[in-house]
Amino acid sequence: MPILGSAGWVGPRSLPVPIVAAVLALSACATNPPQAPAPTVQASAETDPVPGRGDAADDPAIWVNAGNLAESLIIGTDKKRGLNTYRLDGRLRQSLPVGRMNNVDLRDGFEIDGRRVTIVAASDRDRNAIALFALSPEGPDLTDVADGLRATGLAEIYGLCMYADRNRGTLFVFVNDKDGRFQQHELIPSADGKRISTRIVREFRLATQPEGCVADDELGWLYVGEEGFGFYRMAAAPDAATDLVAVDSVGKGSLVADVEGLAIYRANGGGGFLVVSSQGDNAYALYRRAPPNEYVARFRIVDGAAVDGASATDGLEVTSISLPAPYTEGLLVVQDGDNTLPRAPQNFKLVPWSEVRRALQLEP
Ligand code: CA
Ligand code: CA
Ligand code: CA
Ligand code: CA
Repeated sequence: MPILGSAGWVGPRSLPVPIVAAVLALSACATNPPQAPAPTVQASAETDPVPGRGDAADDPAIWVNAGNLAESLIIGTDKKRGLNTYRLDGRLRQSLPVGRMNNVDLRDGFEIDGRRVTIVAASDRDRNAIALFALSPEGPDLTDVADGLRATGLAEIYGLCMYADRNRGTLFVFVNDKDGRFQQHELIPSADGKRISTRIVREFRLATQPEGCVADDELGWLYVGEEGFGFYRMAAAPDAATDLVAVDSVGKGSLVADVEGLAIYRANGGGGFLVVSSQGDNAYALYRRAPPNEYVARFRIVDGAAVDGASATDGLEVTSISLPAPYTEGLLVVQDGDNTLPRAPQNFKLVPWSEVRRALQLEP
């Protein structure tokens, strides 16, 4: 079969990124972060629970449907069973019992079989492989597009995040192993242009167990968490040095182990925030998005009248894209370790970014 020249990553769809000059109104105190209590926010909605009891829901991704923003989806891993998609009101839309998917991430703009799609990647603990799915406004069901089993050779695959290298026009998947190893895989079209293959382009490691990670496509950074210690920044490009710069560590008041999910709230001009799950004290820490990633503030998600708060959060995701109300300033989605009101298996909480901005007195 001929190789289709059009296949590959062609860049993101144009989306309405809000103009947010996210200026901190608090007096920043990176050297002496405030101790608990922290400002609080409430979730506006929660997803349907996962089917299984115990620690099962783990990591969310947010798919902004450029064709119809109201039909955007939350994609959540059920690490005992597979992947689920949920509507913005939390209702389950699609359930894929595809195995023990641990972390999930997505990037827009890959062209396969003549269609421009979003690629969803997940770390598959049943097969120590990278699971790959596609969806698009024309086809909002997740469909498997992996070119066979994309095995990693890792013994215990764990965290995963994606990176779009705008200079090369290439998508990458970072995966890690509980033993500290990381791999960077490039996504490449299969020979017939209809599916997606992978090739490993870089490896590095942390001393102890990592999991959460996130890449900043525009600024070219990868952030990786080391659960018991803190998190680091390094260049995301496949040919860059693997030097790790410590951004923050546990024990200073900003983070309490485990350090779990990381996500990026993008504002224009490189502005915005890194959001990090401080799992050990049921809080979330904010840092400036641009290096040196100064610590900004922290907050908690507490019980509201209809939706309970979030605690012991594993994965989280945030978007600054303006979605239908109450998410006009963006949406934060976090895994909740203890779903109550009423008591039920785990799920994901949806928090309007405007609530976070108000609670932390961040100027719009
Ligand atoms: Ca994620
Ligand atoms: Ca973890
Ligand atoms: Ca809860
Ligand atoms: Ca609940």
